Amino acid sequence: MYDIAKIREDFPILSREVYGKPLIYLDNGATTQKPRCVVDSIVEEYYSVNSNVHRGVHFLSQQATNLHEASRETVRKFINARSTSEIIFTRGTTESINLVASSFTERFMKPGDEVIVSVMEHHSNIVSWQLQAERKGIVLKVIPMNDCGELLLDEYEKLFSERTKLVSVAQVSNVLGTINPVKEMIATAHAHGVPFLVDGAQSIPHMKVDVQDLDADFFVFSGHKVYGPTGVGVLYGKENLLNELPPYQGGGEMIQNVSFEKTTFNELPFKFEAGTPDYIGTTSLAKALDYVSAIGMDEIAAYEHELTVYAMQRMKEIPGMRIFGEAEHKGGVISFLVGNIHHFDMGTLLDRLGIAVRTGHHCAEPLMTRLGITGTVRASLGLYTTKEEIDALVAGIKRVSMMFG
Ligand code: PMP
Repeated sequence: MYDIAKIREDFPILSREVYGKPLIYLDNGATTQKPRCVVDSIVEEYYSVNSNVHRGVHFLSQQATNLHEASRETVRKFINARSTSEIIFTRGTTESINLVASSFTERFMKPGDEVIVSVMEHHSNIVSWQLQAERKGIVLKVIPMNDCGELLLDEYEKLFSERTKLVSVAQVSNVLGTINPVKEMIATAHAHGVPFLVDGAQSIPHMKVDVQDLDADFFVFSGHKVYGPTGVGVLYGKENLLNELPPYQGGGEMIQNVSFEKTTFNELPFKFEAGTPDYIGTTSLAKALDYVSAIGMDEIAAYEHELTVYAMQRMKEIPGMRIFGEAEHKGGVISFLVGNIHHFDMGTLLDRLGIAVRTGHHCAEPLMTRLGITGTVRASLGLYTTKEEIDALVAGIKRVSMMFG
């Protein structure tokens, strides 16, 4: 039994008002709200444990280190990695992708070698590779999609050549909501002997992820999109691959011995964690993962699926409605435009009704170009979204549409 009323009570911000109206928060694709246990964990650790991790012999440092390393185990379990050596803490999805782009290119790629991405990627999974294209002469190949927002798997297969070194694709599109068949796509890449990075920023909050079942070589996500804190994220990588990659940043923690003649590097995962980690953040990220696990990822997925079907159906009642992203497998992200109303105007007026949506290109300009538009309004659902909130969104859009005649 999915107890939505009880769940909503765990999120204090959901009971606030904006412009004298109850907040309807439909911007979960950008970031999610935090349950009390996540915020409490931050306050409690600062008040009673705070001390730098790994380097101290004293009590507090050991306690903070234990919490930090226990969080790594929580993450390992959450995505079913084999070992905590495979869990690297980063600042988020963006940093995780940049780490792989930088270290993987340096180790495995020569000028002219190719990386396959898709047309629906977030800028972080495009620009990170373009930087390497400029610096190292690598080449980007792009998987196209159909008008429903589904990747063309036949075209994908045709992109492989002897020079293909990596595929990097989002499991769920942050604009279209498309759930890409990454397990199948990974099998295709592996048949060509090519490793695969999954951008899990938009999948991790909404579905069960099992990196061994997917056979993902890398899997990346951000804490703040899965009801955890900002500033902390994860890079999962298969141990043998991570062992091959050179360090990303130099500093404390990532070394074994340093001398001016020769420096040796620490073992995994510390080789990739230069400097003081956000150990307060990792503890509260673990609280967030425990929180969603207690509700159940399958239960969250089922609830949100039902809500998405309902929202899509209700949105289509609105005259002049154009929805971008009608894939058969679709998560709770609904991008739309109504008539000639500019996305910015729609977003601003919905805001006055207390409804928080996102407008613009959603860090996916190449996708906007593919769709032939400059931006959309995006409503993105979370585990606490209700049918009543969807109804309020639909009523709000109708009201704004009427204002524009
Ligand atoms: N990839 C996808 C699919 C995303 O939706 C986002 C965030 N909008 C990112 C990457 C980047 O995440 P972050 O800003 O947390 O690094």
